[in-house]
Amino acid sequence: MSQVRVRFAPSPTGFFHIGSARTALFNWLYARHTGGTFVLRIEDTDKERNTDEALRVLLEGMRWLGLDWDEGPEVGGDCGPYFQSQRQDIYDEYLQKLVDAGRTYEKDGAIWFKLEGERYTAYDDYLKAEIEKVKTQPVVIDDAVRGRVERAEEKDFVLVRKDGSPVFHFVNVVDDIAMGITHVIRGEDHLSNTSKHVELFNAFGVTPPVFAHIPLILKEEGSGKMSKRDKGALIEDYAERGFLAAAVRNYISLLGWNPKDEREKLDIGEIIELFDFPGINKGNSRFDEKKLSALNAEYLRELNLESFTFLARPLLNEAGVIAEDEDEDYLQAVLGLCQPKARSLDTMSELCGYFFQDDYSMDEKTGNKIAKKADPKELLAEILPILEGLENFTADAIQASLEAHAESKDLKVFAYFPALRYSVSGQGGGPDLLPMLEVMGKVRVVSRIQRFIG
Ligand code: GLU
Repeated sequence: MSQVRVRFAPSPTGFFHIGSARTALFNWLYARHTGGTFVLRIEDTDKERNTDEALRVLLEGMRWLGLDWDEGPEVGGDCGPYFQSQRQDIYDEYLQKLVDAGRTYEKDGAIWFKLEGERYTAYDDYLKAEIEKVKTQPVVIDDAVRGRVERAEEKDFVLVRKDGSPVFHFVNVVDDIAMGITHVIRGEDHLSNTSKHVELFNAFGVTPPVFAHIPLILKEEGSGKMSKRDKGALIEDYAERGFLAAAVRNYISLLGWNPKDEREKLDIGEIIELFDFPGINKGNSRFDEKKLSALNAEYLRELNLESFTFLARPLLNEAGVIAEDEDEDYLQAVLGLCQPKARSLDTMSELCGYFFQDDYSMDEKTGNKIAKKADPKELLAEILPILEGLENFTADAIQASLEAHAESKDLKVFAYFPALRYSVSGQGGGPDLLPMLEVMGKVRVVSRIQRFIG
């Protein structure tokens, strides 16, 4: 079994941002790719912001994306507790190690980390000069994504604040040591912290983990990192808008990683198989909602009708398009027609609302266009009795009867179609007309035409 242990270490703020989700996903993928362990650790030292609600949003978002954790909240594990707010004993113990090693001092009520190390505590002038050199000696980070990065940590830094609370750098490193983390995969915004972290690992006498800093996600337009205010930034919104988790997960995996071929739609098994550090891009990636929507549409169209109906029903109900107890057969028949044109679940009500509601709006442009060719009311008045007289209201029967009628008028059957579609749907486009009429049924079609004619 592989020894790989990775962690996702979010500070829950009440949002599950796409950047965090991507960090979680990359860690999860690496764990699954290597047969390692995926740890979820909650960095909840900011008591004001880290509420139960914030945790719920995070865990729900991760579960929605299918990112199951092997150790962490609600799951347990040998390295718990998995909330930093419950690990004070461990921090005290580790702080003592640094105190014992002479790597700390107190200043202004805070506990500081001394960069130079005990070797130089009893220094003379010569050593003092050496210390200056050592201080500016850069830490070398062999980043699995960025390659060799050098950074000099020039100033001592605080470990424990005056109020007794330990700082991020300290608890982050202590936990990575205590939890046996082998690879730290996180956003590039943390690269500037890594020299501090390496200094701390060294002070504890522990070999630092492999670092892999993943590039930023830029917002759709302009420059700059995607923030929680940008459209498409929050995972909880996708769930609400009826996006498919598998599609969102597929899309996020492509934000900063690629399978080294042109493919974009990959199932999760393939992504797990192919995911590795060399496939992670060095450059920043840009969020592209169109691409996500296109991918989502592909996933939607592939769903079997039962699953598609299961997902669409609550959204149509919420949009007021169908009643809670809408007939399942009718709903499925309608969705069967509309699924091939689906772009997202939340646009389904626009696409198929008129199947369920009689007060659909009439698209004016389409109406004018149709009226230019021939009076739609006259055309419909001709065929209304034929439709009324049909015993089997099937697409084939409708077609045959309309064709016969058109022939008698020396017209093509298509001459009737635009008016027919417009009268029963208010639209100029939609699913194939004849199957659509069959699904709507005679009663609905006839009464709609009658109302249109007036
Ligand atoms: N709590 C930090 C964050 O949310 C974790 C950083 C890390 O992964 O080391 O950014």
